[in-house]
Formats: sequence, structure tokens, C-alpha cells
Amino acid sequence: MKRSDHGGLFTDDCSLCPALADNRRCIVHGYGDPSARLMLVGEAPGYLGADRTGVPFTGDRSGRRVQALLMALGLSEESDMAAARPRLRAVYLTNVVRCNPPGNRNPTPAEVANCAPYLAAELAAIQPQVVAALGSFAARWAFQTLRGEEPPAGIRSLHGQVWPAGAVTLVTLVHPARASNAQMAAAAATLKAVLGN
Ligand code: SF4
Repeated sequence: MKRSDHGGLFTDDCSLCPALADNRRCIVHGYGDPSARLMLVGEAPGYLGADRTGVPFTGDRSGRRVQALLMALGLSEESDMAAARPRLRAVYLTNVVRCNPPGNRNPTPAEVANCAPYLAAELAAIQPQVVAALGSFAARWAFQTLRGEEPPAGIRSLHGQVWPAGAVTLVTLVHPARASNAQMAAAAATLKAVLGN
């Protein structure tokens, strides 16, 4: 997707979060199919992954797990889960914040709020049918944005659950950096059922 598709909102020079702007190697905007049915929303670019590659969910263990998941769902044309710029179809990858926090720490509420307009622009542009929130920060954003409420429980309790959210179906999942193999398998089964793949 070209940045101009977002009316010039996307930028490579944002410093709204000084600590993140000083720390990041690059700003990692969303990546994938502009006609995606499914949007995966993670937490932040990882130091060993997207902060290095510039593509969400690539380059580290979380990335390999997500790419394997997408292959299993028929949403990737790759056979290599370590592909730097995977050829995706019907799926779009993004994060709640688009700069790597120092030490891979959690983003602060202010940083999440600063970055929210970028994510809102992506959501409006892609108009996915299904949003999968990966991890507690993405789940909180999704519940607040799509359902107008706080998450009813922690992410481990919400893992694999499906929620109506206006025109969108929301799926809440443990982040792949922290998910067990059984939870990854459950994530695949849930998304397969929701997408009808
Ligand atoms: S996290 Fe988002 S709002 Fe903060 S500096 Fe990076 S791009 Fe800007």
C-alpha cells in the first residue's frame, strides 16, 4: 500500500513519542493486502523483528509463528516463514504502536494514544471483516475502539474468543511471543472457523 493512500497521514518522521523516536530503527506501518478480510493487530515492532525489517511480524520468533499461521490459513503465498517481505493475500499486519520501545518494554498509554490515529487510518482504509487482536495492548485497543468498553478479562482468559463488534468480528488472542504451541493451534482453529477457510 502506498502511503498516499492514507492522505499523507503516514510518515517516516514522527516524534510524538520521544523515547520511541530515539530508540527505533524505523517506523513500522502496516503491511499486507489492501483488500484484506483479516487484520492482525499486535503490540509494537520487536527489536529483533519488525524494527529491523520494517515489516510487522517478520524477522523474529513471533514473526515466524505468525507467518506459519498465515500459511496454514492459506493467507500467504510463501513457503518460507522467514521471508522478509511475505506475499500475503487477504490479510494485513499492523501494531498498536509503530516504533520499538526501549528494551522492548510495554508501550505507555500516552504512546498508544499518540499512535492511535495511524491505526485508525489503517482500519478505515482496509475495512477488514475480522480483526484479530494479539496480546493485551491490542485487545484493549480493540475493545475500546470497536466495542466501546474495556476488556472483560485478561488476555489469557480471552484467548480464542470471538466478539461481535459492529461491522467487524473481533478475535482476541495471546500474543505469539507469549503463546504456547497449544494456544497457537487454538488461534489457527478459531481464525479458520471465523474466516470460513
Ligand atoms: S509510536 Fe507512533 S506516535 Fe509514537 S513516535 Fe512512533 S509513529 Fe509516532
